Amino acid sequence: MRTLEIMPHKMRKPFNRDRARFLAFYAVYLGLYPTEQNCFDDIINWLRAAGAIRCPQCHSTDVMCDSDATVSRTGTCQICTATVWLTAGTFFDHMKSIRAWHAALWLKEHGVVFNANQFAEQVEISASSAWSLLKRIDMVLHAYMEDENRSVASSLFLSVFGRRSRLTPRDEHPMMEEQAQREQELREQGTASEQQPLSEEQPNTDSLAPLEKEIYAQLSDKIITSDQLTAKLNRPIFEISAALTMLEVAGLAHSFNGSRIVKADPTLERRSINAEQDTERDSNPKNKARVKPIIKFIRRIFRSVSRKYLQLYTAKYWFRTHRKQWPIGSLFLACARFHDIAEQEIVDFVSPTMVLI
Ligand SMILES: [Zn+2]
Repeated sequence: MRTLEIMPHKMRKPFNRDRARFLAFYAVYLGLYPTEQNCFDDIINWLRAAGAIRCPQCHSTDVMCDSDATVSRTGTCQICTATVWLTAGTFFDHMKSIRAWHAALWLKEHGVVFNANQFAEQVEISASSAWSLLKRIDMVLHAYMEDENRSVASSLFLSVFGRRSRLTPRDEHPMMEEQAQREQELREQGTASEQQPLSEEQPNTDSLAPLEKEIYAQLSDKIITSDQLTAKLNRPIFEISAALTMLEVAGLAHSFNGSRIVKADPTLERRSINAEQDTERDSNPKNKARVKPIIKFIRRIFRSVSRKYLQLYTAKYWFRTHRKQWPIGSLFLACARFHDIAEQEIVDFVSPTMVLI
């Protein structure tokens, strides 16, 4: 009996069609662009096609790359001899690895799908560099989606929210970010559409029990959970819950989903009506059918995503399914026409509660 002995120590990774395709296309790509110079020349050609290379002094487009341009990223104006920073202010401004940036665009244009880790491993850059490079490309795609008047509630994607972002409520599942974002948007709408300023009058808390007062002091327009209150005030949950109920009855606190509490706000009622309308849109069966293939795609390539960047994942899918609009070369050109995307812009990106698909 040696069945157990012939079992390999590590199960081999199952054959992955997407990964095999990625490797095959990458090999073809390396054949077409064997050197970094080839990649750089191609990027410069796209920037020229986009009219993005121009002398800062005389505005001439007659600019020649310097001989060490892959390193210096400089050129020389053939009219006035001024130095030209070839990629400054363009999408390629933050480009460290020329190979990685060029390969990512080429592969995407050829319909190859991959996640940041696969790409980083193959192109030999750090996972974080790969991540922000791919986010930048997705942000360009997203900008092109704006014209399309198709959006669905982000809550339809709840099942793929498995990654944390800096917006994920502390100690909670990444899914809770959806609720937090909706509440955040409601608050913003409330502030923006407020006709008259809120009464400055402090509500009367004299009649509250001591624990109710203590809890009330902890409430603000930021969400706090009853668990957090329990920990903060070091009181048993049932006492906290009872006191919260009293506060809610007194109109001094408001809870979402039973356990997430904010200070009561007079505009809340009107805003929660808006939220209900959103929920109605969620249950539109057409939208559910629309997001189904996108969810499948996200699961297949990324397994799960953070809510924060959902919009950039639906942009990937949109790009894949709008190939007529994106023939070979068009993604390079779109990026060459785009402006520099600062790291902070990626950090600050938050998918709205209605996402374009
Ligand atoms: Zn010049």
